[in-house]
Amino acid sequence: MFKETIDKYSPKVIEWRRHIHAHPELGMQEWGTAEYVEKILRDHDIEVQRFADIPAVVGVLKGGKPGKVIALRADMDALPMQELVDVPFKSKYDGKMHSCGHDMHTAILLGAAAVLAKHRDLVPGTVKFLFQPAEEGPGGALPMVEAGVMLNPKVDACFGLHVFPSGTPGTYVCKKGVASSNADSATIKIIGKGGHGAAPDSAVDPVIISMYVGIALQSIISRNVSPMDSAVITIGSIHSGTAANIIPAAAEMKLTIRSFSSKTRELLATKIKEITEGISHSMGATSEIEYKYGYPMMVNDDRAVEYVVKTLGADRVSITDRALSGSEDFSYFLQEAPGAFIALNAGHDDQENYYNHHPQFNPNEDCLQFGVEAFVKIIMAQDNLKL
Ligand SMILES: [Zn+2]
Ligand SMILES: [Zn+2]
Repeated sequence: MFKETIDKYSPKVIEWRRHIHAHPELGMQEWGTAEYVEKILRDHDIEVQRFADIPAVVGVLKGGKPGKVIALRADMDALPMQELVDVPFKSKYDGKMHSCGHDMHTAILLGAAAVLAKHRDLVPGTVKFLFQPAEEGPGGALPMVEAGVMLNPKVDACFGLHVFPSGTPGTYVCKKGVASSNADSATIKIIGKGGHGAAPDSAVDPVIISMYVGIALQSIISRNVSPMDSAVITIGSIHSGTAANIIPAAAEMKLTIRSFSSKTRELLATKIKEITEGISHSMGATSEIEYKYGYPMMVNDDRAVEYVVKTLGADRVSITDRALSGSEDFSYFLQEAPGAFIALNAGHDDQENYYNHHPQFNPNEDCLQFGVEAFVKIIMAQDNLKL
């Protein structure tokens, strides 16, 4: 479908990708990228919505045929790290790099918008192109949902994709059901009573108590989470005290907490509080817990995944049973409308592939045309999409 137009736009998509790659912007600062995206959409006669306090862009294309309202999403943010890939379109900004491929996602969605706009009389329904900021944090999808991007007209289905530097360009991976983790965090403060290191009997030592709490928290994974489910509790930071002979007054721990079901998510939140408070109290201290729910797990609709397989070809889409242990805020769009998130294979077979977030991350640009093809076909074949 529209193969010639896709081929014709391929060099443009590469050019857009390289421009965005050279000008990376961090989460919620993507004003330059948003302006660039807006201009390209307007050049292709696509209606554009902007937002005063979110660097997001929504393009709306009304097709000439009756059909569904389908949203296609790309994220636009880069990461705070120094690029170590030596390419002519290397990041021009010190300490900022498109090392997760969001430059590619943005260019691919622009390519799909351009191709569909070219054939708008044949396009069914309405397409919403969602360009979001801050996927890497603090999160751009939720503020966009709150700003109403999934309404007026109401979105019937939504699709997103992500490049990974493995597998051959032209092939895809998709997962039914839960496809990424709930990503929560907590800060725990154990408040004891400071004193002299040689007189522990006159103090309440928060260091020892935090050690007990830390060990006990791991027992939630082994003793409370069902063996059929999985979860992670990582204490990534623990701080207390200043010198060997002083018992400090308090200790602080920072946790990342991952789970793959709502039930386990709640279980972890409850047990972390109970164990922390119980151990602290029994040892004479008090505790404060700041528990923060982050991105919810991403849940793909099984029928939408089957539609992707049928539309792109069973020989090109492999179904995996492995969810991402990381998180994705595309999940917020999937809470509003059914859909699927597709992994776009972008490996090189003649050079080393460095994973996302690596300073030498350099996915294969050959994947770009296949990303455009996927989005275009998802819109054009929608008669087969039964939700
Ligand atoms: Zn990332
Ligand atoms: Zn990413």
